[in-house]
Amino acid sequence: MIDLHSHTDQSDGSLSARELVAAAAEAKLEALAITDHDTFAGYDLAVPYAAEAGLDLVCGIELSTKYGRQSVHLLGYFLNQGPSEEFRAWITALQRSRHSRNQQLVDLLRSKGFEITLEEVYRRGGNLPGRPHFAAILVEKGYVPTLQRAFDDYLDASASCYVQREEPAFAEGVHRIASAGGLPSLAHPGRVSRELPILKEIVRDMQTMGLQGIEVFHSDHTIQDVESYRSFAQQFSLAVTGGSDFHGSTKPGVALGTGIHGTLNVPREVLLLLRRFSIT
Ligand code: AMP
Ligand code: ZN
Ligand code: FE
Ligand code: FE
Repeated sequence: MIDLHSHTDQSDGSLSARELVAAAAEAKLEALAITDHDTFAGYDLAVPYAAEAGLDLVCGIELSTKYGRQSVHLLGYFLNQGPSEEFRAWITALQRSRHSRNQQLVDLLRSKGFEITLEEVYRRGGNLPGRPHFAAILVEKGYVPTLQRAFDDYLDASASCYVQREEPAFAEGVHRIASAGGLPSLAHPGRVSRELPILKEIVRDMQTMGLQGIEVFHSDHTIQDVESYRSFAQQFSLAVTGGSDFHGSTKPGVALGTGIHGTLNVPREVLLLLRRFSIT
C-alpha cells in the first residue's frame, strides 16, 4: 500500500515531518508523498527521516488555484527531480498572499466580536497557518462546537467571514508544475462537481490546459467515484494518483494509507506507472 496525499504541520496537518514518516513506517506504507498546501517545508524536513526509515518518499505539493470562480486543488508530484529553484521562488511568493489573507481574516473576525489575534493564529499554525487553524481557535474559545461548524458558519467560501485569497489560475498552476519537472494532478475531483457529465467536460478542458493526472483514489471517494474517475483517466490519457489526504488530528477519522473506513488501499503499481508516465 502507498499514500500519495498527506499533510504535515508545515501546512495544516497535525504531525511533524518526523512523526509523519514514523506513522508511514508504522502503517507499513511502501511509499509516501507529502503534499502540503503551498510549501515544501514538510517534505524537505522529512527527507533525512525517510532515508533513515527506508521509506520511499515522494516530493509533492497541493496548490489552491482558481478555475473560473471556483477554488480548485491541484497536486504536483516531482518524481524524478526536485522542483526547480524558480518554482520554489514562485511558491514563496504565493505564501505572501496567504499571510495577507490571514491578517484580513483576523481583522474581520475581530470586527464581528471574536477575540482572536494574529499571534495566536501563528502560534497554532506555525509558518503557514490556514483556515483549519482559525477553526480550531474558534472551537477552543467556545464560539462554535465543532471544526465543521466553524467552516459552515464563518470560514467557508459561502460563509459570513470568508476572505478571498489571491490564487493562481488553474492553467498557470499546471504550467508552473510541469515546467518545474512535476506532474500536475487534479485533487479530489468530486469537489469540483458532483455532476459527472459536468465534471467530465471540466476534466477535458483541464487536460487541454496541460493537466497530466487525476486523483482516482481518495478518502472521500465512493467505489462508484473511483470507477468514474478511473474511466476519465483512461478517456483523457491522464495518469492515476491517489492518497488519503491525511491531516492527523486536523481531520480526525482519516487514517494514513487506509482513509476513513479502512477501505482505501492505493496499490504500489500507481506509483510505478506515475514514474513511467513522467519519464515519457
Ligand atoms: P486555506 O488554504 O487556509 O484557505 O484553507 C483551506 C483548507 O480548509 C482546506 O484544505 C480544507 O482542509 C479546509 N476547508 C475549506 N473549506 C472547508 C469546509 N467547508 N469544511 C471543512 N474544511 C474546509
Ligand atoms: Zn489541508
Ligand atoms: Fe485538498
Ligand atoms: Fe490535501
